[in-house]
Amino acid sequence: MLRKLFYVFLAVLSLIIVGSPALAYFPEPPGRGGDPHSTALNVEAWRAHPVLPGEGLACLAQRSGLSWETLARANGVLHPGNLSHVVDLRLPNPATSAKVLAARQGETSLELAARHNLSSWDVIRYNPQPLYTGAGVALPIPAEPTPCLPYPLVSVELTRQPLVRGQTSVLIVETAEPAACEVAYAGQIAPCYALDATRLYALIGISALAEPGEYAIEVQVQARGLDTAWQTPLTVTPGRYGFQFINPPPALNALMDPAVMGGELDYLALWRVVRTPERLWELPLGFPLPFRAEISADYGARRSYGGMVDGYHSGIDYRVGTGVSVLAPADGVVLMAERLVARGNAVLIDHGGGLITGYWHLSRIDVAVGQRVTRGEAFAAVGNTGLSTGPHLHWDVWVNGVSVDGKQWLEADGLGMAFPSVAP
Ligand SMILES: [Zn+2]
Repeated sequence: MLRKLFYVFLAVLSLIIVGSPALAYFPEPPGRGGDPHSTALNVEAWRAHPVLPGEGLACLAQRSGLSWETLARANGVLHPGNLSHVVDLRLPNPATSAKVLAARQGETSLELAARHNLSSWDVIRYNPQPLYTGAGVALPIPAEPTPCLPYPLVSVELTRQPLVRGQTSVLIVETAEPAACEVAYAGQIAPCYALDATRLYALIGISALAEPGEYAIEVQVQARGLDTAWQTPLTVTPGRYGFQFINPPPALNALMDPAVMGGELDYLALWRVVRTPERLWELPLGFPLPFRAEISADYGARRSYGGMVDGYHSGIDYRVGTGVSVLAPADGVVLMAERLVARGNAVLIDHGGGLITGYWHLSRIDVAVGQRVTRGEAFAAVGNTGLSTGPHLHWDVWVNGVSVDGKQWLEADGLGMAFPSVAP
């Protein structure tokens, strides 16, 4: 009897505790760290935030500088993916002071504004002095923040925005829990690859022939069997590319038959769809020659071959003598190694994670299809085969099948982020 009374007492006590406002102060469990409000949260003083359709807990938490678990506990939310039953969510009061970031190399006020979704006038107002690398810049926190991303998305960011056509940007997708994703942009479909447990990346390569303007990157995320779609804008600027009029000797005229050139482009297109998830490359890529050779024709120049065939230069030509070794810029697997009509002896190496490199006009090929090459390994020799007017190495860099400017890939910070090193 006494025992039964004790249980009734316990039940009543637990009801009192659940209803008590004292529980609105949530101590952070030890060892989690990260939250500035880790001792106690004064939820009563927080503002009420009306939850918008599709708004996710993880994003709201990140904006408030809290973990999503803390925000869920403070608001009594049971499932982070489902805020549909929550009318108002209590959030810490936002800071209004400007935050300070370091300027990136060569960054302009316009680029800063685009990257942080602010008006360029605001950026200039806060930073009247010229920007230089490493300098702190003040950015206003917008009074009306952009709507939060749907769960499980925490953030979607481009490392290069706006993007000069012919260049590569990296889309970084952060999620509240492990997820898979795929992106679609400018007629391309690219898989995301894992950076770590909750971050994915997708390489965004834009051809030098792409129309400048506003594009949308469609992000499709899958977590726990649920699909979530999001769109993020991509601004493509024209960049400066030259024009080259090439007058090959009459002996090469047969190679300039548009049917031959077109057929070879179609053949190369077969390899452009290859996507190998495992990343074997690291930044910066190794130089594809034993020494820094001079560029004789840069990437992106519009070309006319004797007025017969028009196109653009899809890679970089290095002026170098016949017989010089060609080196693998990263580990990879030989995808193609054969004699083509216009490109002469040609090799494609798949480095995984969205990157393939190509080598044309070779005098000699020392590898076979399927063979594994390691960074710095000599696999071929420079030559003058195919539609070529002198010995040189033509180097093509493909990002998800799109020929882009390889120079960006030869710099440690070329893509605007550090990639974790590849496990041996
Ligand atoms: Zn070339």
